[in-house]
Amino acid sequence: IDQRTNEMHLTNTLLREEIQERQKIEQKLVQLATIDPLTSIHNRRKFDEVLQYELNRDSRYKNALSLVFCDLDNFKQINDQYGHKIGDDVLKAFARLVSDNIRKTDTVARWGGEEFALLLPETDLKIAAVAAEKLRRETEKFDFPHVGRITASFGVTQYIGGDTENSLINRADEALYTAKKNGRNRIEVLAPACPTRPVSLT
Ligand code: GH3
Ligand code: MG
Ligand code: MG
Repeated sequence: IDQRTNEMHLTNTLLREEIQERQKIEQKLVQLATIDPLTSIHNRRKFDEVLQYELNRDSRYKNALSLVFCDLDNFKQINDQYGHKIGDDVLKAFARLVSDNIRKTDTVARWGGEEFALLLPETDLKIAAVAAEKLRRETEKFDFPHVGRITASFGVTQYIGGDTENSLINRADEALYTAKKNGRNRIEVLAPACPTRPVSLT
């Protein structure tokens, strides 16, 4: 009986180790699928997931939701002047700066290249504009490693009933485009148009 008990203990220990090993692998896979390897913030895929979740929330029509797109200004020049490695360091520092200056409930992700997306739940257009302006100012005065001062442009919009993921993203993108066109280092706000009432045929 003693021998059987010992064998069972051994089997239990091996099983526990196996489970821990698998959990580690699973964590690693989730990390690979959701985190941008350069900046260690969420990637676009995770951002999409959070956006979908927010858009599908039952309370969506009652609670505000804002989206901010943000793009570093003249970033190609940074790479050209200092090299790609220092460009990477700037991207890391910027991701940290943004993460440090948003609320716990906000989501920031690297959308791609030197462009970032921010989702602000329970936040209307006015408050989102204040948040974006704060980020713009923090960026402008931050001393980035090797390169010193850089700036970023921001496009801000708010969800409205009837928006799809695409229509919401397009509006933030359009606002960002306007910010670039109007001289960079600025925020632009694009309010959603009032939804047109469906025409009744009877
Ligand atoms: P704008 O103010 O209009 O945004 O000008 P820009 O130079 O920032 O924009 P453009 O799209 O011309 O250049 C973006 C640059 O970002 C080009 C590309 O080399 C650089 N970039 C994109 N991804 C990375 C990256 O992961 N690391 C580094 N170092 N550079 C990147
Ligand atoms: Mg840029
Ligand atoms: Mg860009």
